[in-house]
Amino acid sequence: MQRDLFDEEHLLFQQTVREFMNREVIPHHEQWEKDGLVPREIWKKAGEVGMFGFSVPEEYGGAGVTDFRYNAVIVEEITRNALSGLGFSLHNDVMAPYMVELTDDEQKRRWLPGFASGELITAIAMTEPGAGSDLQGIRTTAVLEGDHYLINGQKTFITNGINADLVVVVAKTDPAAGARGTTLIMVERGMEGFTRGRNLDKIGMKAQDTAELFFENVRVPVTNRLGAEDGQGFFQLMNNLPQERLSIAVAAVAAAEAVLEQTIEYCKTRQAFGRNIGSFQNTRFVLAELATETEIARHYVDKCIRSLNARELTVVDAAKAKWWTTELQNKVVDRCLQLHGGYGYMMEYPVAKAWVDSRVQTIYGGTTEIMKEIIGRSFGF
Ligand SMILES: Cc1cc2nc3c(=O)[nH]c(=O)nc-3n(C[C@H](O)[C@H](O)[C@H](O)COP(=O)(O)OP(=O)(O)OC[C@H]3O[C@@H](n4cnc5c(N)ncnc54)[C@H](O)[C@@H]3O)c2cc1C
Repeated sequence: MQRDLFDEEHLLFQQTVREFMNREVIPHHEQWEKDGLVPREIWKKAGEVGMFGFSVPEEYGGAGVTDFRYNAVIVEEITRNALSGLGFSLHNDVMAPYMVELTDDEQKRRWLPGFASGELITAIAMTEPGAGSDLQGIRTTAVLEGDHYLINGQKTFITNGINADLVVVVAKTDPAAGARGTTLIMVERGMEGFTRGRNLDKIGMKAQDTAELFFENVRVPVTNRLGAEDGQGFFQLMNNLPQERLSIAVAAVAAAEAVLEQTIEYCKTRQAFGRNIGSFQNTRFVLAELATETEIARHYVDKCIRSLNARELTVVDAAKAKWWTTELQNKVVDRCLQLHGGYGYMMEYPVAKAWVDSRVQTIYGGTTEIMKEIIGRSFGF
């Protein structure tokens, strides 16, 4: 079925992103995987070609356009080329709403120009060693003392954790108040008491920095709080999680499409028993099933993108997209690896990298089980 999500301007932008990836990222990505990090300069270069902060108003250096199709273009180009080191979607898809919608004018002036230019790299720190799915169980505290907060606590698994200059820290300002006692506070690189721990050694996404963060008596001015009131953090997170989950679903479908395409080509040339392996009925049936499911996923996700643009995407819609497409991605990648035989287990074949990179997709941004909980609760039991 013809895909009709993108207009001409999105396709032009897709061309720009594609050229950028070919020129600036693809030749270096393997080295970055060995380094466990992408260099900060690549963020700046991506900023120069307009890859960040579409929704940032023009007066602060952005494009002033709220259209998630541009975000999707970038996610898809990154995913199709397996450039999993680039934490751009965290910056663009996850962080942009916090930066644009929750900041006051003074904060906008301080942060948005750097956010849009790629000079100021962002991260969001929700997860702690003792609290992931159960976000209400976080222990990091922010105690209001006059004109500043005193932050103490620890976060883990934070994407862009090493490179980030600005981190939204989810902290309890009133531990007794449950969901109403959580506040989002921006902690900046260089603040005393804010340190980074290990760049964590993951099974995939080797070039992406995923780190532990520590906060020991970090004094953060009240002017770094997101939102006018204390205690709104949990609701701010709940508002923005659908967009994060949709971004993960966009990547899931793009990854499944790419791996399917590569595998179909492989099956046309690999011989066994004197025939191409694509001539076995099992191969054709497996690929037929995966291609069908991937195309169905594509259309649901595209519809979700349109709904998000119309501000109609619900928490439940996004949860459905997230769990179903990421589980599908894992299935596609796993079955395609099987069709590669032993070569599928070798890192020189793209399917092997796709297999390790994809595994996290059903985990971060809310696990499959949590997505099903969200959907299940909507039935009103
Ligand atoms: C590579 C990577 C990048 C990440 N990036 C970030 C980031 O940038 N910022 C950030 O804040 N976090 C980040 N995370 C953390 C991620 O969001 C959490 O790992 C995830 O939410 C799961 O939390 P957890 O690891 O504590 O698992 P747990 O919550 O301990 O879950 C363990 C298992 O129990 C299941 N489970 C838990 N509760 C229930 C329930 N009620 N019903 C049924 N099953 C349940 C889960 O589904 C899972 O299978 C990242 C994680 C990874 C691996």
